[in-house]
Amino acid sequence: MQILFGIKNIRFDELENPVLEKKNIKLQLARLDKIHPVVSGNKLFKLHYFLDEAMQSNHKTMVSFGGAYSNHLVAIAFAGKESGLKSIGIVRGEEPKNLSHTLQQCLQYGMQLQFITRNEYKNTGQPDFINNLKLKYGDFTLVPEGGYHPLGAAGASLIMDLLKDKNATHICTATGTATTLAGLLLKAQHSQQVITVPVIKNMNDIEERLFYLINKKKHNNLQIFDDYHFGGYAKKTEQLINFMNVFYTNYGVPTDFVYTAKMMYAILDKINNNFFPAGSSIVCLHTGGLQGNQSLPPGALLF
Ligand SMILES: *Cc1c(COP(=O)(O)O)cnc(C)c1O
Repeated sequence: MQILFGIKNIRFDELENPVLEKKNIKLQLARLDKIHPVVSGNKLFKLHYFLDEAMQSNHKTMVSFGGAYSNHLVAIAFAGKESGLKSIGIVRGEEPKNLSHTLQQCLQYGMQLQFITRNEYKNTGQPDFINNLKLKYGDFTLVPEGGYHPLGAAGASLIMDLLKDKNATHICTATGTATTLAGLLLKAQHSQQVITVPVIKNMNDIEERLFYLINKKKHNNLQIFDDYHFGGYAKKTEQLINFMNVFYTNYGVPTDFVYTAKMMYAILDKINNNFFPAGSSIVCLHTGGLQGNQSLPPGALLF
């Protein structure tokens, strides 16, 4: 059974501009966003081993958590539909009159939604909460929010298999839960720098997260660019939106404002500031999430 559907759609785009040429830097974008228009690439990888478990089970059901704009929930809904699994999404907040695009998409893919208050949501990690869900829905495979779990990191490490013949000196990703980052670190060679751009303000627990995810404390090849969150999670500025439009005009690549746009902004800025030595071969992950742009005002983006 093919779980990582759509990976044949992934391609690598080389970005070219006079600065890169002058500095002798190769910059490639791994287009994980090409897997599917709605389901972002890194999410599908993080889900890999959870899907595997659910498919081998008798219950054939996945339960997970997220907010109204969760790329993670919609990925589970889609993956569930593709794999013949039932999916249930526990959504943070009261049921709104008008569902977000993301949640509408979840319903379209057959996900069952249950809304809980923000207060209840804080207890979703408690055994009692999970037991109540089991009384209601029967047995299931539980996928933590964002796939934040060692199994999610193991799934994300499969991304590195795609990069084997790329000879990357630097591999870059946007970071939310750090699960994708952990997967990259699992399989990166010592000579490869792994760069993370946190999209959350003051994210100072990355090392702790990595320890939980891959049980390793010290990472000599980890680099954190923590000054590019643009105000915090899902925050945006005019400068960021302008950057997305210019990036699209220059390279023909659409980005999402929550993750990939901030990461690319950071990498291009660091290239300009001579962080990367001549001869560097940088691979940035385009982790998708483009569906999230639908929450922007119409006309804000050129794509
Ligand atoms: C979830 C997400 C990320 C962050 O991945 P983590 O593994 O949680 O750090 C990056 N990009 C996109 C588009 C995402 O949806």
